[in-house]
Amino acid sequence: METAWSKYTGSKMKPLMDFADDYKKFLNASKSEREVVKSSIELAKKAGFKDLSKATKLKAGDKVYYNNRGKSLVLFVVGKEKIENGLNILGAHIDSPRLDLKQNPLYEDGGIALFDTHYYGGIKKYQWVAQPLSLHGVVCKKDGTKVDIVIGEKDDDPIFGISDLLIHLAADQMAKTGAKVVEGEDLNVFVGSIPAKGKDEKEPVKKAILDLLKKEYDIEEADFVSAEFEMLPAGKARDYGFDSSMVFAYGQDDKVCAYTSLRAILEMDKPNRTSCCILSDKEEVGSQGNTGMQSRAFENAIAELMNKKGEYNELALRHCLTNSMMLSSDVSAAFDPNYPSASSPNNNNAYFGRGIVFNKYTGSRGKGGSNDANPEFIAKIRKVMDDNKVAFQTSELGRVDQGGGGTIAYILANLDIEVIDAGIALHNMHACYEVASKVDIYEAYRAYVAFLKDMK
Ligand code: MN
Ligand code: MN
Repeated sequence: METAWSKYTGSKMKPLMDFADDYKKFLNASKSEREVVKSSIELAKKAGFKDLSKATKLKAGDKVYYNNRGKSLVLFVVGKEKIENGLNILGAHIDSPRLDLKQNPLYEDGGIALFDTHYYGGIKKYQWVAQPLSLHGVVCKKDGTKVDIVIGEKDDDPIFGISDLLIHLAADQMAKTGAKVVEGEDLNVFVGSIPAKGKDEKEPVKKAILDLLKKEYDIEEADFVSAEFEMLPAGKARDYGFDSSMVFAYGQDDKVCAYTSLRAILEMDKPNRTSCCILSDKEEVGSQGNTGMQSRAFENAIAELMNKKGEYNELALRHCLTNSMMLSSDVSAAFDPNYPSASSPNNNNAYFGRGIVFNKYTGSRGKGGSNDANPEFIAKIRKVMDDNKVAFQTSELGRVDQGGGGTIAYILANLDIEVIDAGIALHNMHACYEVASKVDIYEAYRAYVAFLKDMK
């Protein structure tokens, strides 16, 4: 199979590399789902998008966004056709695997103050010890104010971390299976070690940290109850390889598809069919909750859009869903020469450098839980991709019965939307730092533009 890199000779390489630089900048400012929503709205406003809740009398060419509680986002560019004729939808998720703080996180043990965590999403727990971690989150106080906190990303910030047992004393630990080497309740984060002065303190180090939090951020221990804090791998997105052909960064599942989808809708200008881009939350834990894809917030957003264009009625909304088409984008597993036996054989696995990936189905144990895209729909996509000279490949998530995965595709399919899984292939998926190929990122972005513009 031909490599997508062959298209990018001489001066054609620059736009591809520039796009990857923009992507890295976006990642550095947008590690948590809340930060992604914030940065996406900033970019959208620059591109002429307005808040749907404040918009009136929409017409073709208008650009609006629907902010769902600061944790998920839907963007629309109103098309020339009636909305009832259906949307061309791009969807990706903006939450990533991580360690969340428990509701009473702070405690002291052995002269050290620690945060207790509960991991979020599927992780190999042993990957998260002895790693630089940053704290990202929000505290909602009783008086209605919110405090945003990010510590550990600036060069002169302190970082945090979880200890690992020294190899010299790890005889028992090394005899355990991978799943048990580090267990969920072992993921406690070190946050301080200087005790408060005063000999009556029972937990002087914890007390000193609480004093510091009060002084720096005006928050108290009880405020953790109404807070959302994530411990994330610290550090910036980096180029990877002598040739800088890949991006190494935390949370590319699924911000790599979210950013490329966002960039595609930002440049839509009076499309025929209305363009839509969904950036959803909670995919890594099953898409529940009112910011997850299973929520009716998405239908509410479409209803709102139709209403503000004077086209809303319940049947028109149902027609809109039935007539909609979607690329549900999530990351795929790229062939890894270090672990070839986990790959799907016979040209049924994704490879770095071969463009956007289409997965007819995902799922596990006999396609369980999968949306299985209809070939009539796939044929239309093939035509649009070929007409726009987009490099694409097809894949499934590894060898049959090695495992598998799910996405948001089936949830949109349940709304009667025509949908296929698409996306960008990664190495190290769900590890602290994941890797993507820059040419695949650029081809995915080009695929999304083509889909929004030309699918009919
Ligand atoms: Mn994902
Ligand atoms: Mn994932």
